[in-house]
Amino acid sequence: MQANAYAAQSATSDIAPFSIDRHDVGPNDIRIDIDFCGVCHSDIHQARNEWGNSIYPMVPGHEIVGHVTSVGASVSKFKVGDLAGVGCMVDSCRECASCLASEEQYCENGKLVLTYNDRYHDGAPTFGGYSSHIVVDQAFALSISPKLDLAATAPLLCAGITTYSPLRHWNVGPGQKVGVVGLGGLGHMALKFAHAFGANVTQFTTTAGKEVDAKRLGADEVVVTTEPGALDKLANSYDFIIDTVSAPHDLNKFLSLLRRDGSLVLVGAPDKPSEIAAFSLIGKRRTLAGSTIGGIAETQEMLDFCAEHDIVSDIEVIPIQQINEAYTRMLKSDVKYRFVIDMKTLS
Ligand code: NAP
Ligand code: ZN
Ligand code: ZN
Repeated sequence: MQANAYAAQSATSDIAPFSIDRHDVGPNDIRIDIDFCGVCHSDIHQARNEWGNSIYPMVPGHEIVGHVTSVGASVSKFKVGDLAGVGCMVDSCRECASCLASEEQYCENGKLVLTYNDRYHDGAPTFGGYSSHIVVDQAFALSISPKLDLAATAPLLCAGITTYSPLRHWNVGPGQKVGVVGLGGLGHMALKFAHAFGANVTQFTTTAGKEVDAKRLGADEVVVTTEPGALDKLANSYDFIIDTVSAPHDLNKFLSLLRRDGSLVLVGAPDKPSEIAAFSLIGKRRTLAGSTIGGIAETQEMLDFCAEHDIVSDIEVIPIQQINEAYTRMLKSDVKYRFVIDMKTLS
């Protein structure tokens, strides 16, 4: 089955029209005609081979929402006409301890299959959501509530779960002082969730001018980190900080803000390693940790939480023809706060 798509042909090429093959709908598969696809900074890292593992041609996109247009004979979770979503994963081994715990993103058998820039177990390349439709096993598809704006729901499939999961894992809640570093796609969702979970939240940003938005999105305090001395009075005062920054930056200055036993959790994935001073950690028994997306069960829990609490992303909807311009703006930290591609514009 042919699908229209937009692809990167190399690390230096623009994202441009391309045609791909989608496999047939198997007994456990559903076909989703894609209405909207969010634009994650991981799309840029991978389209440009910044992580050194890119497979070309590459069709990026792992914040996929649309309508089910076909279901296989054994499908019970979906029927034609339902809304459905796909995030960062489309398969895993399904039998290791992590998969059995629905933490498929940590599959221990090397069989995790990412939505794009990866290969199915039969070796065929995976292609993402900058495309007209996708065929996916029902076990890796999510149910989307019709209560929420569909376009603004798309970013929940990556930016949403990637921030929800660590906030839940580290039990962020009332009485805690929490920091969010970087106000982009992931950052603005971290802010919304940390606020919804009852924490007192500080937004750290390098961009003067995002203060008003940060407050509207749920920040109790906003700190522009490029102002000299901005962090000095905040030392040793945070329980938990989530770092969503896409580029190399100094982690020691955020570690110094944690109180005893506090945690700095990285979800941002810059292409270069960071230097950590032992003294940033040892004096206050601080933890530096990381987290990647979230399992299928937790992704559904997050989507249901969002439907119940009326939480979606703040988005700028673009036609697919503006994708390269969107990348350029994201690299300047100029997005409010997630680009979402209207897939009807793909002809
Ligand atoms: P984004 O929308 O581009 O936001 C990144 C934000 O980081 C920017 O808006 C900016 O916020 C800040 N920033 C950018 N360059 C900076 C610099 N040089 N120094 C300090 N701050 C800087 O990106 P995103 O889609 O949220 O993704 C963020 C990162 O998370 C990416 O590396 C992405 O690959 C990664 N990611 C990881 C996972 C996972 O599973 N762990 C999932 C999705 C994405 P301010 O203007 O507020 O400073
Ligand atoms: Zn992503
Ligand atoms: Zn597994």
